[in-house]
Amino acid sequence: MIIVLRDDATPGDREALIRRLSRLGMTVHESEGMGGRILGVVGDEDLLHSQSLDSSPGVERVVPLTKPYKLASREFRPDGHVVHVGPVAVGGEKVVVMAGPCSVENRADFLDVARRVKAAGATIVRGGAFKPRTSPYSFQGLGKEGLQILAEARDETGLRVVTEVMDPRDVDLVASYADILQIGARNIQNFNLLKEVGKIRKPILLKRGLMTTLTEFLMSAEYIMSNGNYEVILCERGIRSFDNATRNLLDLTAIPVLHAWTHLPVIADPSHGTGKWRWVPPMARAAVACGADGLMVEVHATPEAAFSDGDQSLLPEKFAEMMRDLRKVAKAVGRTL
Ligand code: PEP
Ligand code: MN
Repeated sequence: MIIVLRDDATPGDREALIRRLSRLGMTVHESEGMGGRILGVVGDEDLLHSQSLDSSPGVERVVPLTKPYKLASREFRPDGHVVHVGPVAVGGEKVVVMAGPCSVENRADFLDVARRVKAAGATIVRGGAFKPRTSPYSFQGLGKEGLQILAEARDETGLRVVTEVMDPRDVDLVASYADILQIGARNIQNFNLLKEVGKIRKPILLKRGLMTTLTEFLMSAEYIMSNGNYEVILCERGIRSFDNATRNLLDLTAIPVLHAWTHLPVIADPSHGTGKWRWVPPMARAAVACGADGLMVEVHATPEAAFSDGDQSLLPEKFAEMMRDLRKVAKAVGRTL
């Protein structure tokens, strides 16, 4: 539930209320919304309802949360949440672009592509060191060596780094190199992994699963947040459909719907969403037009030789061209890029 404090509530009223709720085993989240007058309370709902909190000193009203996700809900935090990744703000006015190859393949190529996406305006570089491949015989990623290359690219370019973690046992290792930990589509309901990344203090990029409803998506975010990590970025990356014209069906409806349901930033990944580089620029433009807070885009200097996802990877010059077009769309919808 949410407790809205009165305008004239004293710091003493507030502290007494928080102490009382904590004694009842509730977790209290202090929101900055409405001049700091909002307290979000999570815990045993029946016990909360028995407390006549409405009539406590300093309380204006008590608003029950109607959704199964609580910490992630827009009701809980009416203002949008901005996730800070060093100097990069995801969820603010600027549309944040994360770009790079599907996998980190070797040091020289990765540093080269990192420099090129930076020159085109990306602020975060991506690259998988642990790859979730359909076939066990496909390239599985460079592991720790890949993480070291990612960190070197950050040190050299100043770009922040996002990379996937697949195994709860690797969370600390990946967190020691990455700025954002990505949870891939296939792990959206790997609850042990979600709990583990909930315990760290680095932002999480949570990708929608291949057949995840938006409520399930937010319940997965809730797993992370309820373990203490509130810095979650959602990513729409396409869902399975009956039509094989594209690899997935990029569900752009998810962007405005999620913005209505949650305060978390929402980005789109038109690379995995379409599976073909040709469809990436138009869908990226559409994503920005409908309010995406950012984009994740795969870029490779020699897509035909890529170890993974070459078909959907843009050449660096095509990426730069797309960025120029996106700036116009961003401006038209009151954003920068
Ligand atoms: C990726 O980002 O390379 C990836 C594997 O994404 P997804 O989990 O969305 O398939
Ligand atoms: Mn990929």
